Amino acid sequence: MRVIIVGAGIGGLCLAQGLVKAGVDVAVYERDQGRAERVDRYRLHVNPAGSRALRACLPASAWESFLAGTGKSAGGFGFLTERLQTLVIVDDAIMYPASADPAEQAHPVDRMFLREVLLAGLDGVVRFGRRFDHYSLLPGGAVSAHFLDGTIAAGDVLVGADGVGSAVRRQYLPGNDPVPTGAVGIGWTVLLDGAASTRIPERIRTGMNMIMAPVPFFLFTSVFRRPGRAGASSGDYLLCAIVADRGACPAGVESLDGRVLRAAAEAMMAGWHPDLIRLAAEADPGTFGAFPFAAAPLPDP
Ligand SMILES: Cc1cc2nc3c(=O)[nH]c(=O)nc-3n(C[C@H](O)[C@H](O)[C@H](O)COP(=O)(O)OP(=O)(O)OC[C@H]3O[C@@H](n4cnc5c(N)ncnc54)[C@H](O)[C@@H]3O)c2cc1C
Repeated sequence: MRVIIVGAGIGGLCLAQGLVKAGVDVAVYERDQGRAERVDRYRLHVNPAGSRALRACLPASAWESFLAGTGKSAGGFGFLTERLQTLVIVDDAIMYPASADPAEQAHPVDRMFLREVLLAGLDGVVRFGRRFDHYSLLPGGAVSAHFLDGTIAAGDVLVGADGVGSAVRRQYLPGNDPVPTGAVGIGWTVLLDGAASTRIPERIRTGMNMIMAPVPFFLFTSVFRRPGRAGASSGDYLLCAIVADRGACPAGVESLDGRVLRAAAEAMMAGWHPDLIRLAAEADPGTFGAFPFAAAPLPDP
């Protein structure tokens, strides 16, 4: 059996690793020209379900390098008011029951690093610079994938792992396009190694937090520290995101530049604790971005 995967993102690469491990013939086709084309500055949290999947699919050496390069989730999830009063702190032990097994733990990880780990050993499997255009069903149950450069790949199974705007899905399930939720995120980062960062409240420098106010938006914060270091060090940062009803944002928020977005974030937090407003006011405008949230409708079985 030959499997064709479109998209070398988190899902496509993890699946490819698992198939290679199981001895299945697989090829991955990715539109990016190379492994370092899109440098995503955000890290992400891999929860225990993700950790289990990575251990199951990766070769042992890649799983070991994943563990060596990731941190450990700590600090829990705090819910605070806009005046920085604590409502509740949900301990890590409640979110992720304690376990000595790293595959049962959550791991914050740099996205580029995760991509490198997922690409380990897949040199002959992943083909870059191939943008999927459409597929054709062949007699006998086989399938062929057609790429914009005119090349064609044939196989028995085609997997659309090409992300939220999947072209595979668009052809297979037309009418199941992601629908706007009406929510917009305004996100930015704050470096934790500068002198100004010492004025960030201790709770905000710890774990993840949700700042709740009687307004149609909240502020999410999450600290990302490099593994194995106690204090803040170079590269550690705080990810901040206001998640808002579109009506609470300036018109055309997705196309505003960083300075305007920063001013908008400050204005939205007017009346909040000054330490919270400062998170936006003193941040580098180049780190600001706005992204709408869409949701996939549930297709029929
Ligand atoms: C701001 C933000 C924060 C997040 N934080 C977390 C987190 O902390 N933890 C967590 O678990 N998840 C998080 N997520 C969600 C997570 O990023 C996604 O669930 C995950 O990336 C989906 O993986 P994927 O492989 O399906 O798609 P993607 O990672 O999007 O990969 C799709 C790949 O397909 C390629 N592609 C697209 N179109 C084509 C085409 N036509 N031809 C060929 N290749 C194509 C793309 O270039 C890309 O490489 C976050 C998402 C966002 C936006």
